[in-house]
Amino acid sequence: MCSGRVDLEFVLRAFSNGMDGVFIGGCRLNECNYITHGNYHALSMALLCRRIMEHIGLNPARLRIEFMTSGEGILFADLMSQFAGNVNQIGPLGTAEGIKQNELRSKLAEIRKLVPYIKLVKKEKLSSRLEDPEAYDKLFTRNEIDNLFREVTSYYIDPKKCQACMTCAQRCPVEAVISAKNQIHVIDQDKCIKCGTCFEACPPRFGAVTKIAGGPVPPPPPEGERTIVRKKDSSTLKSRS
Ligand code: SF4
Ligand code: SF4
Repeated sequence: MCSGRVDLEFVLRAFSNGMDGVFIGGCRLNECNYITHGNYHALSMALLCRRIMEHIGLNPARLRIEFMTSGEGILFADLMSQFAGNVNQIGPLGTAEGIKQNELRSKLAEIRKLVPYIKLVKKEKLSSRLEDPEAYDKLFTRNEIDNLFREVTSYYIDPKKCQACMTCAQRCPVEAVISAKNQIHVIDQDKCIKCGTCFEACPPRFGAVTKIAGGPVPPPPPEGERTIVRKKDSSTLKSRS
């Protein structure tokens, strides 16, 4: 219905599924029938995705976005033939760039896992309304995207502070918090999409969730050592076995 609905995840999934190129067609900029002007969002998303492609070594010309009306069939056909020709010239995905298929699959899988994080961190730029094509290249810079991946924030639950109130587990959108009654909670880093909800949700009096920017996450306590033993008449932590 709207090019604004074309999520970054859709494009990366297409490449993960082996597509050599992705074409996004939207209505003409500034001619959207809705107040949302989703085509501008699609444009910013595509510009971000092209930088991400560069970051992992893919030719960004494999992704193209164009704007036209539903009456411009000839223009659409011309652009599609042109794009298909370009993609054919570039060659098969990954192979043409000298990236091994396994390596490409794992790079794309890593990036796809970070899509919610990327969208959160870049939300302001993603809602830009770029009028001037000369501004396209400057919206996201190479350095900015390299830094984005270098400084990815991880979340960690401090076992000394966690009071097993379960709030983080209830709020986590992807069930990445390993949770049980009276058990120190643990974040499954493989499932975590780094949305930061647990950080916001952990009651300030506990402050058990910490942010780690760009560094390694400490290992969680072993499974048999997560029980919180409380004093009978108080919620004060007594000891942990
Ligand atoms: S940051 Fe926290 S809430 Fe978000 S996915 Fe990771 S564990 Fe879940
Ligand atoms: S919200 Fe905080 S205190 Fe409660 S279970 Fe999660 S990390 Fe522990």
